[in-house]
Amino acid sequence: MEIKVELNQNLKSKAVLEKGELPFGHIFTDYMFVMDYAPDKGWHNAKITPYAPLMLDPSTSCLHYGQMFFEGMKAYKRTDGQIAMFRPMENMHRMNLSAQRMSMPEINPDEVLEGLEKLVALEKDWIPSTPESSLYIRPFMIGMDALLGLRPSSTYKFIIILSPVGAYYGKDGLAPVRIFVESEYVRAVRGGTGYAKCAGNYAGSMLSQLNAQGHGFNQVLWLDGIHRKYVEEVGAMNVFFLVDDTVITPALSGSILPGITRKSIIEICKDWGLKVEERPVAIDELAKAYDDGKLKEAFGSGTAAVISPIGELTWGDKVMKLAEGKPGQLTQRIYDEITGIQYGANPDTRDWVKIVSHN
Ligand SMILES: *Cc1c(COP(=O)(O)O)cnc(C)c1O
Repeated sequence: MEIKVELNQNLKSKAVLEKGELPFGHIFTDYMFVMDYAPDKGWHNAKITPYAPLMLDPSTSCLHYGQMFFEGMKAYKRTDGQIAMFRPMENMHRMNLSAQRMSMPEINPDEVLEGLEKLVALEKDWIPSTPESSLYIRPFMIGMDALLGLRPSSTYKFIIILSPVGAYYGKDGLAPVRIFVESEYVRAVRGGTGYAKCAGNYAGSMLSQLNAQGHGFNQVLWLDGIHRKYVEEVGAMNVFFLVDDTVITPALSGSILPGITRKSIIEICKDWGLKVEERPVAIDELAKAYDDGKLKEAFGSGTAAVISPIGELTWGDKVMKLAEGKPGQLTQRIYDEITGIQYGANPDTRDWVKIVSHN
Protein backbone atom coordinates (compact mmCIF):
# COMPACT_ATOMS: atom_id res chain seq x y z
CA MET A 1 0.00 0.00 0.00
CA GLU A 2 1.34 3.38 -0.91
CA ILE A 3 1.07 5.87 1.94
CA LYS A 4 1.43 9.51 1.05
CA VAL A 5 2.83 11.83 3.70
CA GLU A 6 1.60 15.43 3.82
CA LEU A 7 3.97 17.47 5.95
CA ASN A 8 2.69 19.55 8.83
CA GLN A 9 4.11 23.10 8.77
CA ASN A 10 2.80 23.96 12.25
CA LEU A 11 4.28 21.44 14.67
CA LYS A 12 2.99 21.78 18.22
CA SER A 13 5.28 22.34 21.20
CA LYS A 14 6.23 19.12 22.98
CA ALA A 15 6.90 20.94 26.26
CA VAL A 16 3.86 19.18 27.81
CA LEU A 17 5.79 15.89 27.68
CA GLU A 18 8.37 17.22 30.15
CA LYS A 19 5.85 18.34 32.77
CA GLY A 20 5.02 14.72 33.62
CA GLU A 21 1.28 15.49 33.81
CA LEU A 22 -0.46 13.98 30.81
CA PRO A 23 -4.12 13.35 31.53
CA PHE A 24 -5.49 10.49 29.43
CA GLY A 25 -6.51 11.43 25.90
CA HIS A 26 -6.26 15.22 26.06
CA ILE A 27 -3.23 15.92 23.90
CA PHE A 28 -2.82 14.75 20.32
CA THR A 29 0.23 14.61 18.11
CA ASP A 30 0.90 16.47 14.85
CA TYR A 31 -0.19 13.78 12.41
CA MET A 32 -2.90 11.21 11.82
CA PHE A 33 -3.32 8.26 9.46
CA VAL A 34 -6.40 8.41 7.22
CA MET A 35 -7.78 6.23 4.45
CA ASP A 36 -11.10 6.07 2.62
CA TYR A 37 -13.35 3.25 1.53
CA ALA A 38 -15.67 3.15 -1.46
CA PRO A 39 -17.31 0.03 -2.88
CA ASP A 40 -15.63 0.39 -6.29
CA LYS A 41 -12.14 1.28 -4.97
CA GLY A 42 -11.96 -0.60 -1.70
CA TRP A 43 -9.58 1.08 0.77
CA HIS A 44 -7.70 3.87 -1.01
CA ASN A 45 -6.16 7.28 -0.50
CA ALA A 46 -4.05 6.14 2.47
CA LYS A 47 -2.10 9.03 3.88
CA ILE A 48 -0.39 10.46 6.89
CA THR A 49 -1.65 13.98 7.16
CA PRO A 50 -1.60 16.87 9.68
CA TYR A 51 -3.92 16.23 12.67
CA ALA A 52 -7.00 18.35 11.97
CA PRO A 53 -10.77 18.46 12.55
CA LEU A 54 -12.96 16.50 10.16
CA MET A 55 -15.65 18.16 8.10
CA LEU A 56 -18.80 16.03 8.18
CA ASP A 57 -22.12 16.56 6.45
CA PRO A 58 -24.76 16.74 9.24
CA SER A 59 -26.46 13.71 7.68
CA THR A 60 -23.33 11.53 7.86
CA SER A 61 -24.51 8.05 8.81
CA CYS A 62 -22.14 7.44 11.75
CA LEU A 63 -23.66 10.47 13.52
CA HIS A 64 -27.14 8.93 13.42
CA TYR A 65 -26.95 5.16 13.47
CA GLY A 66 -23.62 4.66 15.15
CA GLN A 67 -21.78 2.65 12.51
CA MET A 68 -18.49 3.14 14.25
CA PHE A 69 -15.89 1.14 16.13
CA PHE A 70 -12.53 1.88 17.66
CA GLU A 71 -9.42 0.22 19.06
CA GLY A 72 -7.05 1.02 21.91
CA MET A 73 -3.34 0.25 21.74
CA LYS A 74 -0.04 1.71 22.94
CA ALA A 75 3.48 2.37 21.73
CA TYR A 76 6.20 2.39 24.37
CA LYS A 77 9.70 3.73 24.61
CA ARG A 78 11.60 0.78 26.01
CA THR A 79 14.43 1.07 28.50
CA ASP A 80 16.90 0.39 25.66
CA GLY A 81 15.42 3.32 23.67
CA GLN A 82 13.60 1.13 21.15
CA ILE A 83 9.98 1.82 20.34
CA ALA A 84 7.61 -1.10 20.66
CA MET A 85 3.98 -2.12 20.47
CA PHE A 86 2.35 -5.01 22.34
CA ARG A 87 0.69 -7.70 20.20
CA PRO A 88 -0.52 -5.15 17.61
CA MET A 89 -1.70 -7.80 15.14
CA GLU A 90 -4.29 -8.85 17.73
CA ASN A 91 -5.82 -5.37 17.53
CA MET A 92 -5.84 -5.52 13.74
CA HIS A 93 -7.80 -8.77 13.85
CA ARG A 94 -10.16 -7.47 16.51
CA MET A 95 -10.97 -4.50 14.29
CA ASN A 96 -12.21 -6.92 11.69
CA LEU A 97 -14.34 -8.68 14.30
CA SER A 98 -15.91 -5.31 15.15
CA ALA A 99 -16.23 -4.43 11.45
CA GLN A 100 -18.09 -7.67 10.68
CA ARG A 101 -20.52 -7.17 13.56
CA MET A 102 -21.27 -3.57 12.53
CA SER A 103 -21.64 -4.42 8.80
CA MET A 104 -18.58 -2.35 7.98
CA PRO A 105 -15.72 -3.20 5.59
CA GLU A 106 -12.73 -5.12 6.91
CA ILE A 107 -9.26 -3.62 6.85
CA ASN A 108 -6.12 -5.35 5.60
CA PRO A 109 -4.28 -6.11 8.89
CA ASP A 110 -0.78 -6.02 7.34
CA GLU A 111 -1.35 -2.77 5.48
CA VAL A 112 -2.92 -0.97 8.42
CA LEU A 113 -0.17 -2.15 10.77
CA GLU A 114 2.38 -0.88 8.25
CA GLY A 115 0.59 2.51 8.17
CA LEU A 116 0.47 2.60 11.96
CA GLU A 117 4.17 1.82 12.29
CA LYS A 118 4.99 4.56 9.84
CA LEU A 119 2.85 7.02 11.81
CA VAL A 120 4.40 6.01 15.15
CA ALA A 121 7.92 6.24 13.69
CA LEU A 122 7.19 9.73 12.37
CA GLU A 123 5.79 10.75 15.78
CA LYS A 124 8.40 8.98 17.92
CA ASP A 125 9.40 12.21 19.67
CA TRP A 126 5.87 12.39 21.06
CA ILE A 127 6.39 9.19 23.07
CA PRO A 128 7.06 10.32 26.63
CA SER A 129 10.06 8.67 28.26
CA THR A 130 9.03 8.97 31.91
CA PRO A 131 8.49 5.54 33.53
CA GLU A 132 5.34 3.67 32.42
CA SER A 133 4.21 6.45 30.10
CA SER A 134 3.28 5.67 26.52
CA LEU A 135 1.76 6.87 23.29
CA TYR A 136 -1.90 5.82 23.27
CA ILE A 137 -3.06 4.75 19.81
CA ARG A 138 -6.70 5.19 18.82
CA PRO A 139 -7.71 3.67 15.46
CA PHE A 140 -11.37 4.03 14.49
CA MET A 141 -13.72 3.64 11.53
CA ILE A 142 -16.85 5.63 10.71
CA GLY A 143 -19.65 5.31 8.15
CA MET A 144 -19.51 8.31 5.82
CA ASP A 145 -22.59 8.21 3.58
CA ALA A 146 -24.49 11.50 3.77
CA LEU A 147 -28.04 10.21 3.80
CA LEU A 148 -30.52 9.07 6.41
CA GLY A 149 -31.67 5.72 5.01
CA LEU A 150 -31.31 3.01 7.65
CA ARG A 151 -28.87 0.69 5.96
CA PRO A 152 -25.10 0.17 6.08
CA SER A 153 -23.11 3.09 4.74
CA SER A 154 -21.36 2.41 1.45
CA THR A 155 -18.41 4.74 2.16
CA TYR A 156 -16.15 4.82 5.23
CA LYS A 157 -13.19 6.58 6.75
CA PHE A 158 -10.53 4.83 8.79
CA ILE A 159 -8.39 7.06 11.00
CA ILE A 160 -5.60 6.59 13.56
CA ILE A 161 -4.82 9.33 16.06
CA LEU A 162 -2.11 9.34 18.76
CA SER A 163 -2.10 10.74 22.27
CA PRO A 164 0.85 10.81 24.70
CA VAL A 165 -0.22 9.57 28.14
CA GLY A 166 1.59 9.57 31.48
CA ALA A 167 1.84 6.65 33.89
CA TYR A 168 -1.60 5.39 34.89
CA TYR A 169 -0.53 5.01 38.50
CA GLY A 170 1.37 7.46 40.69
CA LYS A 171 4.51 6.75 42.67
CA ASP A 172 2.53 4.72 45.22
CA GLY A 173 1.88 2.10 42.54
CA LEU A 174 -1.28 0.14 41.79
CA ALA A 175 -4.26 1.80 43.46
CA PRO A 176 -7.19 -0.51 44.35
CA VAL A 177 -10.65 0.66 43.28
CA ARG A 178 -14.13 0.46 44.83
CA ILE A 179 -16.59 -1.41 42.64
CA PHE A 180 -20.39 -1.32 42.63
CA VAL A 181 -22.07 -4.49 41.34
CA GLU A 182 -24.68 -3.21 38.84
CA SER A 183 -27.91 -5.20 39.14
CA GLU A 184 -30.22 -2.91 37.15
CA TYR A 185 -28.54 -1.79 33.94
CA VAL A 186 -26.59 -4.12 31.68
CA ARG A 187 -23.71 -3.36 29.32
CA ALA A 188 -24.38 -5.98 26.67
CA VAL A 189 -26.33 -9.15 26.08
CA ARG A 190 -25.54 -12.33 24.18
CA GLY A 191 -26.50 -11.84 20.55
CA GLY A 192 -25.88 -8.09 20.86
CA THR A 193 -22.66 -6.14 20.24
CA GLY A 194 -20.74 -6.67 23.48
CA TYR A 195 -17.79 -8.38 21.80
CA ALA A 196 -17.32 -5.50 19.34
CA LYS A 197 -15.53 -2.28 20.31
CA CYS A 198 -18.40 -0.20 18.95
CA ALA A 199 -19.25 3.25 20.26
CA GLY A 200 -22.81 2.49 21.41
CA ASN A 201 -21.62 -0.02 24.02
CA TYR A 202 -19.82 2.79 25.81
CA ALA A 203 -22.59 5.42 25.52
CA GLY A 204 -24.99 2.94 27.11
CA SER A 205 -22.65 2.28 30.04
CA MET A 206 -22.17 5.87 31.18
CA LEU A 207 -25.39 6.31 33.16
CA SER A 208 -24.51 3.38 35.38
CA GLN A 209 -20.95 4.61 35.75
CA LEU A 210 -22.19 8.08 36.81
CA ASN A 211 -24.63 6.58 39.34
CA ALA A 212 -21.85 4.49 40.84
CA GLN A 213 -19.49 7.48 41.00
CA GLY A 214 -22.24 9.50 42.68
CA HIS A 215 -22.17 6.91 45.46
CA GLY A 216 -18.41 7.02 45.88
CA PHE A 217 -17.49 4.05 43.70
CA ASN A 218 -14.88 4.10 40.95
CA GLN A 219 -16.50 1.65 38.56
CA VAL A 220 -19.25 -0.90 38.11
CA LEU A 221 -19.10 -4.66 37.79
CA TRP A 222 -21.45 -5.72 35.00
CA LEU A 223 -23.66 -8.77 35.32
CA ASP A 224 -25.10 -10.73 32.40
CA GLY A 225 -28.22 -9.32 30.75
CA ILE A 226 -30.42 -12.41 31.09
CA HIS A 227 -30.05 -13.65 34.68
CA ARG A 228 -28.35 -10.61 36.28
CA LYS A 229 -26.24 -13.23 37.92
CA TYR A 230 -23.06 -14.00 36.00
CA VAL A 231 -20.16 -11.57 36.14
CA GLU A 232 -19.10 -10.09 32.79
CA GLU A 233 -16.70 -7.15 32.98
CA VAL A 234 -15.60 -4.35 35.27
CA GLY A 235 -16.14 -0.93 33.66
CA ALA A 236 -14.46 -1.24 30.26
CA MET A 237 -12.06 -3.93 31.45
CA ASN A 238 -12.12 -7.70 31.67
CA VAL A 239 -12.21 -9.13 35.16
CA PHE A 240 -10.27 -11.82 37.03
CA PHE A 241 -10.66 -13.42 40.45
CA LEU A 242 -8.27 -15.47 42.52
CA VAL A 243 -10.35 -18.02 44.45
CA ASP A 244 -8.17 -20.21 46.66
CA ASP A 245 -5.34 -20.80 44.21
CA THR A 246 -7.40 -20.82 41.01
CA VAL A 247 -7.47 -17.88 38.61
CA ILE A 248 -11.02 -17.49 37.31
CA THR A 249 -12.30 -15.22 34.53
CA PRO A 250 -15.71 -15.18 32.81
CA ALA A 251 -15.72 -17.20 29.59
CA LEU A 252 -16.17 -15.19 26.38
CA SER A 253 -19.87 -15.56 25.71
CA GLY A 254 -20.51 -12.94 23.03
CA SER A 255 -21.34 -10.14 25.43
CA ILE A 256 -17.76 -9.81 26.70
CA LEU A 257 -15.04 -7.91 24.86
CA PRO A 258 -12.19 -10.32 24.05
CA GLY A 259 -9.37 -8.35 25.67
CA ILE A 260 -5.79 -8.82 24.54
CA THR A 261 -4.58 -8.16 28.08
CA ARG A 262 -7.05 -10.83 29.25
CA LYS A 263 -5.70 -13.33 26.72
CA SER A 264 -2.11 -12.52 27.74
CA ILE A 265 -2.85 -12.94 31.45
CA ILE A 266 -4.41 -16.36 30.85
CA GLU A 267 -1.29 -17.49 28.98
CA ILE A 268 1.10 -16.08 31.57
CA CYS A 269 -0.76 -17.66 34.49
CA LYS A 270 -0.84 -21.04 32.74
CA ASP A 271 2.91 -20.75 32.04
CA TRP A 272 3.42 -20.08 35.74
CA GLY A 273 1.68 -23.36 36.46
CA LEU A 274 -1.42 -21.74 37.96
CA LYS A 275 -4.83 -23.26 37.49
CA VAL A 276 -6.87 -21.02 35.18
CA GLU A 277 -10.59 -21.38 34.53
CA GLU A 278 -12.60 -19.59 31.85
CA ARG A 279 -16.22 -20.24 32.75
CA PRO A 280 -19.43 -18.57 33.91
CA VAL A 281 -18.79 -16.92 37.31
CA ALA A 282 -21.91 -16.23 39.38
CA ILE A 283 -21.86 -13.26 41.73
CA ASP A 284 -23.32 -15.38 44.54
CA GLU A 285 -20.48 -17.88 44.04
CA LEU A 286 -18.05 -15.01 44.64
CA ALA A 287 -19.99 -13.84 47.71
CA LYS A 288 -19.87 -17.38 49.10
CA ALA A 289 -16.16 -17.66 48.37
CA TYR A 290 -15.68 -14.35 50.17
CA ASP A 291 -17.59 -15.59 53.23
CA ASP A 292 -15.49 -18.75 53.23
CA GLY A 293 -12.31 -16.68 53.08
CA LYS A 294 -11.44 -18.04 49.63
CA LEU A 295 -11.85 -14.91 47.49
CA LYS A 296 -8.26 -13.73 47.67
CA GLU A 297 -7.85 -11.16 44.89
CA ALA A 298 -9.78 -9.50 42.07
CA PHE A 299 -8.64 -7.18 39.31
CA GLY A 300 -9.62 -5.67 35.97
CA SER A 301 -7.45 -5.88 32.85
CA GLY A 302 -7.12 -3.65 29.79
CA THR A 303 -4.62 -1.75 27.69
CA ALA A 304 -4.96 1.62 29.47
CA ALA A 305 -4.20 0.54 33.05
CA VAL A 306 -2.90 -2.98 32.25
CA ILE A 307 -4.17 -4.15 35.66
CA SER A 308 -6.58 -2.43 38.02
CA PRO A 309 -6.78 -4.08 41.46
CA ILE A 310 -10.24 -4.31 43.02
CA GLY A 311 -10.15 -3.30 46.69
CA GLU A 312 -13.86 -3.53 47.37
CA LEU A 313 -16.93 -5.10 45.76
CA THR A 314 -20.35 -3.93 46.89
CA TRP A 315 -23.30 -6.12 45.88
CA GLY A 316 -26.53 -4.85 47.41
CA ASP A 317 -25.96 -4.85 51.17
CA LYS A 318 -22.92 -7.01 50.93
CA VAL A 319 -19.53 -5.33 51.07
CA MET A 320 -16.57 -7.51 50.14
CA LYS A 321 -13.20 -6.04 51.06
CA LEU A 322 -10.19 -7.54 49.35
CA ALA A 323 -6.46 -7.65 50.00
CA GLU A 324 -6.64 -5.00 52.75
CA GLY A 325 -6.78 -2.11 50.29
CA LYS A 326 -3.48 -3.09 48.69
CA PRO A 327 -3.05 -4.89 45.36
CA GLY A 328 -2.91 -8.64 45.93
CA GLN A 329 0.35 -10.52 45.45
CA LEU A 330 -0.70 -12.22 42.21
CA THR A 331 -2.27 -9.00 40.89
CA GLN A 332 1.02 -7.17 41.39
CA ARG A 333 3.06 -10.02 39.93
CA ILE A 334 0.97 -10.07 36.73
CA TYR A 335 1.23 -6.29 36.40
CA ASP A 336 5.01 -6.42 36.82
CA GLU A 337 5.32 -9.27 34.31
CA ILE A 338 3.30 -7.59 31.55
CA THR A 339 4.78 -4.12 31.96
CA GLY A 340 8.20 -5.78 32.22
CA ILE A 341 7.70 -7.46 28.85
CA GLN A 342 6.41 -4.22 27.33
CA TYR A 343 9.20 -1.96 28.56
CA GLY A 344 11.97 -4.50 28.21
CA ALA A 345 12.82 -5.45 31.80
CA ASN A 346 11.53 -9.00 31.24
CA PRO A 347 12.35 -11.32 28.33
CA ASP A 348 9.73 -11.53 25.59
CA THR A 349 9.65 -15.32 25.27
CA ARG A 350 6.28 -15.38 23.48
CA ASP A 351 7.16 -12.94 20.70
CA TRP A 352 4.54 -10.41 21.83
CA VAL A 353 6.63 -7.27 21.41
CA LYS A 354 6.82 -5.66 17.98
CA ILE A 355 9.74 -3.27 17.62
CA VAL A 356 8.92 -0.25 15.43
CA SER A 357 11.83 0.61 13.19
CA HIS A 358 12.55 4.30 13.16
CA ASN A 359 14.10 4.93 9.81
C1 LIG B 1 -10.98 -2.57 25.20
C2 LIG B 1 -11.80 -3.26 26.23
C3 LIG B 1 -11.28 -4.23 27.10
C4 LIG B 1 -9.81 -4.55 27.21
O1 LIG B 1 -9.24 -5.00 26.03
P1 LIG B 1 -7.65 -4.95 25.87
O2 LIG B 1 -7.43 -5.54 24.54
O3 LIG B 1 -7.09 -5.76 26.96
O4 LIG B 1 -7.26 -3.52 25.95
C5 LIG B 1 -12.15 -4.89 27.96
N1 LIG B 1 -13.46 -4.61 27.97
C6 LIG B 1 -14.01 -3.65 27.19
C7 LIG B 1 -15.46 -3.39 27.26
C8 LIG B 1 -13.19 -2.94 26.31
O5 LIG B 1 -13.71 -1.99 25.54
